Amino acid sequence: MKEFQIIEHFFNSRSQNRRDVELGIGDDCALVQPAINKSIAISCDTLVEGVHFYPDIPPQALGYKSLAVNLSDLASMGAEPAWMTLALTLPDVDEAWLKEFSKGFFDAAQYYGVALIGGDTTRGPRSITVTINGQVPTGKALTRGGAQNGDWLYVTGTLGDSSLGLDLIRGKRTVDAEYHEYLINRHYYPSPRVLAGQSLRTLASAAIDLSDGLASDIKHLLKQSEVGAMIDVGQLPLSAALKDSVTHDEALSYALSGGEDYELLFAVPEAQKGALETALAHAGVQFTQIGQITPGDKLRLKRNGEQFNLTNIGFEHFS
Ligand code: ADP
Ligand code: MG
Repeated sequence: MKEFQIIEHFFNSRSQNRRDVELGIGDDCALVQPAINKSIAISCDTLVEGVHFYPDIPPQALGYKSLAVNLSDLASMGAEPAWMTLALTLPDVDEAWLKEFSKGFFDAAQYYGVALIGGDTTRGPRSITVTINGQVPTGKALTRGGAQNGDWLYVTGTLGDSSLGLDLIRGKRTVDAEYHEYLINRHYYPSPRVLAGQSLRTLASAAIDLSDGLASDIKHLLKQSEVGAMIDVGQLPLSAALKDSVTHDEALSYALSGGEDYELLFAVPEAQKGALETALAHAGVQFTQIGQITPGDKLRLKRNGEQFNLTNIGFEHFS
């Protein structure tokens, strides 16, 4: 197969249509028609073999995930996914691999309504770059800046599952059979909180998606917002799978410093708390209040009302 055959067979034929795509794959550029009064949100992520994923990752999971991590960035800004390009660098033309990769990729694309409108295909060490474009009403995007003293901090979903899932995959841990698949899927098939992000547009003062782990990602939000925060680690949402598989302190380590949760962390002013319950119930997403924005610029953690230190639970070991 030549480059254009790969594109035609695995990518062009599968790309869904959107009415706002004037011209998709096949010309020198794609043409799209942005909606009136909307801004375009653009984000790009590269996954490199040996750096961001292990060579033994199932290609279907890799396809899904290379889109999901980009969708998570749109989610945290409250943008609605629209169009994307895919730059694929592959060491060889492995049709079985391409079939599985494109299946995972288009499963995510279809589910989230995003059209593949172009890309590039080259030979080299395996890497995948997706550039995603979303739309958000102008002036309404959520950013990392904007959180105010007293705002409440929330996260969606549960934390730490993905990182425990990776440890399972790498054979560093074992868990009860009943939790095995759930945890591995949380690592391979994260759920970008796209609808939740859009619901939060009018409610949250700031938001970020959790890719590196709560304890490290929250610092970006605090810095941009020029505030501090207090988190009650006793409130962190932990799945039964995580809680039942490791000690409580280990569970907290996974939740605080395990990466690749792709959940949202967001701040909500007191006055919006009521509306938040309704909006997120509607989006069908679990969310948990974990703390509050404070003056200053520090992140402080507490447990049972007392100061809590990450070093007490071997945080460095995990980070
Ligand atoms: P050019 O030489 O003008 O860059 P290419 O031969 O690289 O053109 O690509 C031809 C068309 O196929 C373009 O529309 C491009 O966007 C698209 N394309 C190339 N690779 C991919 C890919 N991996 N996925 C989707 N579209 C692709
Ligand atoms: Mg090209």
